[in-house]
Formats: sequence, structure tokens, C-alpha cells
Amino acid sequence: MRTETKCIHEGWKPSEGEPRQLPVYQSTTFKYDTSDTMGQLFDLEREGYFYTRLQNPTNDAVAAKIAALEGGVAAMLTSSGQAANFFAIFNICEAGDHFIASSAIYGGTYNLFGVTMKKLGIECTFVDQDLPEEELDKYFKPNTKAVFGETVTNPTVTIFDFEKFSRLAHKHGVPLIVDNTFATPVNCRPFEWGADIVTHSTTKYMDGQGVSVGGCIVDSGNFDWMAHADKFPGLTTPDESYHGITYAERFGKAAYITKATAQLMRDFGAIQSPQNAFYLNLGLETLHVRMERHCSNALAVAKFLESHEKVAWVHYAGLENDKYHDLAKKYMPNGTCGVLAFGVKGGREKSIKFMDSLNFASIATHVADAKTCLLHPASHTHRQLTETQLKEAGINPDLIRLSVGIENVEDILEDLKQALDRI
Ligand SMILES: *Cc1c(COP(=O)(O)O)cnc(C)c1O
Repeated sequence: MRTETKCIHEGWKPSEGEPRQLPVYQSTTFKYDTSDTMGQLFDLEREGYFYTRLQNPTNDAVAAKIAALEGGVAAMLTSSGQAANFFAIFNICEAGDHFIASSAIYGGTYNLFGVTMKKLGIECTFVDQDLPEEELDKYFKPNTKAVFGETVTNPTVTIFDFEKFSRLAHKHGVPLIVDNTFATPVNCRPFEWGADIVTHSTTKYMDGQGVSVGGCIVDSGNFDWMAHADKFPGLTTPDESYHGITYAERFGKAAYITKATAQLMRDFGAIQSPQNAFYLNLGLETLHVRMERHCSNALAVAKFLESHEKVAWVHYAGLENDKYHDLAKKYMPNGTCGVLAFGVKGGREKSIKFMDSLNFASIATHVADAKTCLLHPASHTHRQLTETQLKEAGINPDLIRLSVGIENVEDILEDLKQALDRI
């Protein structure tokens, strides 16, 4: 099946007489007749459901669809994108370990990695992702366990160079983890470019309607944990908290996701509710149609803003003169996403006047859904960052993040134009 068909038919595959649409298994528990069967489930010797914190059929069907879309071997849904990124790292890093992340990543992830994970004894070095390979090489240490980036960064919409980072990560025997939220597997499949693990905030385009917060982790199954056994003892030595199982031996390509489920989800419990997984599945069914429209609308908006006299600058990799146009063309030939960044002349004050003058385009701490919305990171999402941290993250104080929706593009342009006229 091609991507568009996978969006619709992967995951839930009903047999004769079963519901065509994915049922919501709204149940905490699952029934068994013998104590022995239940025991085998706990020993991971038998497949089956027993408690929704560990696995649920609705969630599993949706995770399987996302795994298929990404071309991975297994996936796990989480309660949010934050939980997905936390688990993705914490599944292979413990106190005393180190990892490398692009400094241009989403503000929430930046905080998680730089502040909260530090309290757990895990150190993150943030790097300028545009540095040449030999410069980036210097940041690796003997205790480095992973490299992390975003396909299209939120909110600066820069493009990640997969091949450069996968060469570096693999040279040092560690996996490359990529947050593919903005591009979605419709526009980019990081595994085809050397990424080993992909994460998503499914809250964004995958859900697509601003309905439910959620996340997902997908494993390509490509990283050979046993070949670097000393670096990843959590996967390559017995887990005493789970009957002495060695995940990489017992589960092969599914080791990483099995460990994340059996250990992290068991202990932290950040599950997606089956009802939210159901909404997510509805979003996935139309993802390919919506992404196409988000991209064509965003390109038209970027061109309009670029030529407007009151606009100081526009960042959108779809624009031919954008710094990231070539990387975007290579990794995302059909378009990147519907999010772009720009600044209006006159800085902060004029930006605020512009935003307050819009009609249907609304101010929202959200991106990537059907409705056009926008945000001023320096006064909203990133307000906890210092000026230096803002600069490090590549965020100008005048940056407006515009998430172009799937309304008629003429209406979007008219709304932007009338608001620009008023400043
Ligand atoms: C929103 C977002 C997150 C966090 O996801 P939540 O679902 O809000 O927890 C992580 N990464 C990226 C790129 C995001 O846009």
C-alpha cells in the first residue's frame, strides 16, 4: 500500500462481520478464565491484553498504523508529545549518561532535556544543527547515548540534515532519534534517511483538528543494540524488574518498544486514553489530504508575506531563496508543513498590533490543525527562556509563528492583508 492508502487501511483490519471503523475498547481490564493464562501474559510469554496501562486494542491498532506509515517495526502511543520524547530518551539513558540535541527544537522539549532531565542526572548538550560535521563530532563523549533532532523545527522551521546526523550518530555507535511532528510521515520518512527512532506529538497534524493531546514513539528496528551492548545495558542485560528478561535477545527488532512498554509505561503510566486514540485514528485517515492543502496554502501565504512591504522577513523552506530550501527539497520533495515564521517591520509592538487585528486567524498556543492560528513565541511559548537562550534557539524577539490552516487560501490572504494594512 502507498502512504495515502495506509492512512486509511493500516492498523485496524476487521475480519468478516466486524465493525469497519476502529472500535473504542473503553475497558481498563480484560477477562481470562484460568490463572495460568494470566500468568503467561505477565511473563510476556503469551500475547494478549490484561490492563490498559500496558496495552489496549484500540491504542495498538493506531500505533500499528503510525508504525506502518513511518516504515517502522513497532510503535507505542503516549499521553502527549512530551511523554513520547521523554520516554524515547529515558528508555536508553540513565543517570550519568549524556546525549546531544539540536538547540533549535521545540521549547517544551528544550526545557525537558535541559532542565528536568538534568535533575535525573542525564546531561544534554545542545548544538547548532547547521555546524559542519567535523565540528559536531567534537561534542560526542564516551557516555553519549543518543542524538536528537526535529525534521522541521518548531517554531523556527529550519530543516534537519538527516544524513549528516545519522553518519555522526552511527559512527559513535548511538541511535538517531527524530521528532517528525511537523512533517508527518506523509511528507518525510526519517527512517529512509538513517534515523533509528521517530517520535511524534500526535496533537498536531496527525490529530489535525485540535481535539486531543497525544504522542507516539516508533522504532525502525534498525539499530543493533547488541553490537553496542556495553552502551545500552537496559536492553542488553537482564531486567530484574521483569523476570530477568534481556529485551534485545528476547524481542530482537521489537526490543526498544517492548522495553518502553513493559518498563516505562508500567512505571510512569503516561498512556493515551482509548477514546483519544480513536480521535487520532480519524485524524490519520485524512492526514494525506490535509497535509497537501496545508502545504499549498502555506506556500501561497509565504509568497504573499515575502512580497509585502510591511514584512521584514519570512522563513519557509518552500520559498526558493530560503536558506533551507535545498535540504527541504531533498528530504521533503512534496512540501514540509503548513507552519512558517515571519517578522513584521517595527518589531514587537507592531507584531502585537498585527496579531490583534486579525479576524478569523486566531491567537492560540497551538499549531498544525485545520484552523489558521498564530503565536508570538517570545511572549508566549518561550517566555521562560532568557534572551541568550532565545538567541541560541534561533528565535528573534519579533518572530511570529503562523500555522496556516486549510481554509480557502484567498480568505487567509485577505485576513492577513487587512491586519497588515492596520499597522
Ligand atoms: C507540540 C510539540 C511537542 C510536544 O507535544 P505535546 O503533545 O504538546 O506534549 C513536541 N515536539 C514538537 C515538535 C511539537 O510541536
